[in-house]
Amino acid sequence: MSTPGTARAGSWLQDGNLRLRDTPMILMYHGVADVDEDPNLLCVSPSRFAQQMAWLARRGLRGVGIGTLVGAMRAGCQRGLVGITFDDGYTSVLESALPVLRRHGFGATAYIISDRVGTTNDWDEGPTWPLMTAGQVRELAAAGIEIGSHAATHMRLAGASPERLAAEVSGSRASLAALLGTEVRGFAYPYGSMDAAARRAVRDAGYEHACAVEASLPEMGLMALPRIYVGQQDDAIRMAAKRLLHKGRIALRSRPGGPAPQTPSPLARGDETPSHR
Ligand SMILES: [Zn+2]
Repeated sequence: MSTPGTARAGSWLQDGNLRLRDTPMILMYHGVADVDEDPNLLCVSPSRFAQQMAWLARRGLRGVGIGTLVGAMRAGCQRGLVGITFDDGYTSVLESALPVLRRHGFGATAYIISDRVGTTNDWDEGPTWPLMTAGQVRELAAAGIEIGSHAATHMRLAGASPERLAAEVSGSRASLAALLGTEVRGFAYPYGSMDAAARRAVRDAGYEHACAVEASLPEMGLMALPRIYVGQQDDAIRMAAKRLLHKGRIALRSRPGGPAPQTPSPLARGDETPSHR
C-alpha cells in the first residue's frame, strides 16, 4: 500500500477473501403498511412494496436475505441478487411483505430487537406499530426469512460501554437463538449507529455479517455493509436512480486511490431519510 488512498480502497476491496467491491445493492425497509401518519418515514404501503418487488423481478433481479447474499459473494455468484432487509420486526412484514416476497420467490432478512419482541416501536416519537411476537418471529423464520438481531433494546451502539455492547450484541444473539432454536448470523445496527468497538463486538459475538446504513470507506466491510433506504416515494424511476447510484458509488469505492465516497446522496439521504431506524 503506497498511498493512504490505496490503503483505504483496500479496506473496501477486501474483507478476508471476500471482494466487497462486488457487493450487490441491499435495500432497507421497516414496515409495510398503509398508515395515516408516518413522520419518520418507516412504512411503505403494501401496493408500493409490491410494485418495488415487481420492478426488481422485471429486471431479472432476485431478492435474497443477507446470509444468502454473503454466501453468493463468497462463491462469486452474486450477480443478479439484491439484498432485502426489514428492521425492527413489525408484524406488517409477516402480514403484508411475506406474501409479496413469496409470490416472487424472494428471500429477505428481518432484524429483530430481542427485548422488544411482542411490544411496539415506542422508542420513536410519533405513531407506534406492533412488533412481532415470538410465535410470529418463528413463523417468519419457518417461511424461509432469515432472522437477524437488531440489538436488545434498540439503543445507539456508537460510544456504548463494553458492558452495554456485550448485552446488546451477544445478549440479543443468545436470546434470539433460544427463541428460534437456531444460530443467528446477522446483525443490523439500530439507527445505523456504530463505531470500531461496536463492529468488533459484533464480530467477536460470532455474527458473520452486519448491516449499517451509511458507512464511510474505512468502516465498510462484512461488519458494516451499506444499505439503501427505500420509501413510499420510490417509484420505478427512483428505484432505477438508486440502482445506478449504487453502481456509481461502488465503482468510486473500488478505484484504487479514488475519492472517498462520503458525498451525501440526494436519493439516499435528505428529504426522505427516516430520522429513526
Ligand atoms: Zn431500527
